[in-house]
Amino acid sequence: MFEKALEVLERYFGYAQFRDGQQKVIESLLRGTDTLAIMPTGAGKSLAYQIPALLFEGTTLVISPLISLMKDQVDALVQYGVPATFINSSLSLKEVRVRIEKARCGEYKLLYVAPERLESEGFRALLELLNVSFVAIDEAHCVSQWGHDFRPSYLHLGPFLKSFTYKPLIGAFTATATEEVQVDIIKQLGLNAPDIFATGLDRPNLSFSTLRGAKKKEFILEYARLHADQSGIIYVGTRKEVDNLQTFLSKNGIRAGKYHAGMKEEERQQSQEDFLFDEITVMVATNAFGMGIDKSNVRYVIHYNMPKNMEAYYQEAGRAGRDGEPGECLLLFSPQDVVLQRYLIDQTIFQQERKNNELKKLQGMVDYCHSSRCLRKTILEYFGEEAIHEECNNCSNCNDVREKIDITVEAQKIFSCIIRMRERFGIGMVAEVLKGSRKAKIRELRFDELSTHGIMHDIPLQDIKDRISFLVAENFLQLSSGEYPVVKLLPNAVSVNKGDAKVWQKVTPQPVRKNEEEINLFDQLRKLRTELARRENVPPYVIFADNTLREMSQLCPIDLQSMIRISGVGEKKLAKYGSIFLEEVRNFCEEVKNGIVGRQDISENYVEANKLPNSNSQLLPKLIKSQEEIDLTQHHSPVVSRRTKQAPSSAKASKDKLLSHQQTFLLYQEGYSLDEIAKVRNVTALTVQQHIVRCGLDGQAIPWDDFIPIEQEALVLEAVRRVGREKLRPIKDLLSDEVEWFTIQAVLEKYKI
Ligand SMILES: [Zn+2]
Repeated sequence: MFEKALEVLERYFGYAQFRDGQQKVIESLLRGTDTLAIMPTGAGKSLAYQIPALLFEGTTLVISPLISLMKDQVDALVQYGVPATFINSSLSLKEVRVRIEKARCGEYKLLYVAPERLESEGFRALLELLNVSFVAIDEAHCVSQWGHDFRPSYLHLGPFLKSFTYKPLIGAFTATATEEVQVDIIKQLGLNAPDIFATGLDRPNLSFSTLRGAKKKEFILEYARLHADQSGIIYVGTRKEVDNLQTFLSKNGIRAGKYHAGMKEEERQQSQEDFLFDEITVMVATNAFGMGIDKSNVRYVIHYNMPKNMEAYYQEAGRAGRDGEPGECLLLFSPQDVVLQRYLIDQTIFQQERKNNELKKLQGMVDYCHSSRCLRKTILEYFGEEAIHEECNNCSNCNDVREKIDITVEAQKIFSCIIRMRERFGIGMVAEVLKGSRKAKIRELRFDELSTHGIMHDIPLQDIKDRISFLVAENFLQLSSGEYPVVKLLPNAVSVNKGDAKVWQKVTPQPVRKNEEEINLFDQLRKLRTELARRENVPPYVIFADNTLREMSQLCPIDLQSMIRISGVGEKKLAKYGSIFLEEVRNFCEEVKNGIVGRQDISENYVEANKLPNSNSQLLPKLIKSQEEIDLTQHHSPVVSRRTKQAPSSAKASKDKLLSHQQTFLLYQEGYSLDEIAKVRNVTALTVQQHIVRCGLDGQAIPWDDFIPIEQEALVLEAVRRVGREKLRPIKDLLSDEVEWFTIQAVLEKYKI
């Protein structure tokens, strides 16, 4: 049965193997055992019930709490060629009947339903007509009053499941559930001796960073500019600040939208849609945004303010990188955030005990922001995970190489000034005195007569304020709670003033753009995806995920056979989009070849690909005959315009000459190394490699051993033995980074496997 699951995974979803965690859950369900699966965001929770649904007889009922999410999931399934639909309050009664009728005729394998529906007697009667063999309950923690997200409508599930005349198989799925909640889920849903699986909470593809004392607005603007082509969410503490930041970013040319509970329903809806469809790249929002957002290619989540606890933080930050590709989670800390959160807890109507608990959780978050240990370890420990590595090498503490500067003298000036102002004023006022302001209020209080007045006059006012905030963050100073926080000295500051301790500040890093090399072909493919998505009115990631496009741009598939080797390309998508994406790759390659696109890090093996003869008997004589016709400088001609629709003139002129990849191979046969060929032909090493592969596929005899490092051959073969040859990505993933794509292709070609 499990082989069948793999087959379905490959055929519909285009992946060659399951992720950790998915396999066990699927095996359990296929055995017919009720199953509770706790899988964190990004672990591929949905596939764990969609695959069994495709294998079981009849229809699978999926209970899902969020209408918007339901539609996205169904849209995505339909794209994969999976027959699915949903029924919820957004449909008319007539439409509901039509869908039920179709379900009865077996037209859908998956039927998504909101829990509220199950209350209706009529609806339940309709369901009786269906052959429901499996019920999957998403967000199962909503059934428990102990959970953080209890929904009363979920209480109808238990009675509903019992009302079947036979007992359907039940799978309960959630991203988080404490032990207490797990017990409750099993009880409420009446799971029968279930298997329970918990996938670890770690998300290795996410990097975590905290930043203290940064100029937040400027930092974010710079960051958003550097990541202009990527989707990101910026969480902001209050509605007013959301409005401010969104306006600021928009004025500075960033395509930013906003979302908070103070906006009109339609506005929010529109904003959310714009984000899903990549019409805007940055979403500035309060924590009201995110529930039910299934966008898999969010590349970064920035917290403009510190959230109230780690649960909230990890859930929000976790919306980055759900496709398993790298995601950045940044938290910009400022001491005022602590003051605000304390104030909010204070304002609640909770009992004192609950308040204390909330304060304790808040402190956990503050500690995270100040920790110099591995941030990932800090998070996972908080959630009670054990056996965690000391260092993850993918967080701002593990990778901290910033320069430290000694700011002891400045700190002493600030401390002295605060003492002279009798620790009764806020950051702004202290900064103004240090700057030497002569405002009426300052003269009135006679602060202009203090010895510290104006001793930092050469530093911009905002910088002085930032320095003071930094000293608060580092526990030299403290901010009182209340509406007008006052800054006071802590014991650490006293020792600095005495000269017993020094103050170091790390230079705030500038935002940097990672993975610079992704741009270019990847970018073009994304644009194409956006166009298609608009035409079909689905979110772009539903067409192909980012990682699929990235692999496409790295591997440059040459035809549909090589296209299906790419992860995320299943049969339906191959048929629907294969040719159009191949076409785009070819266009791009022609532009590179003609010098229209600046960088040349992709293969140009598409040029004239259509005219290729298949057998090498025709090719070989031509290779020899045409030797003198090779024109290595043909693509150095100057750029005239972008994207000419006609075939480039150089291509026409070289019609009778050797094809580009053949020229490369000829040079190789003449004794040039691949590097030398790249230089001579002014293309990248990758292009040269792909030329060789191309010649091999044409049927030429290639000395593959030349290109396979001797110690890697056995490793590649072993990897192929383990994961098969259908997709290249799983093979690559099993091997260390030193093993190049080219080596894998060379081994596959050598053994014709
Ligand atoms: Zn770390």
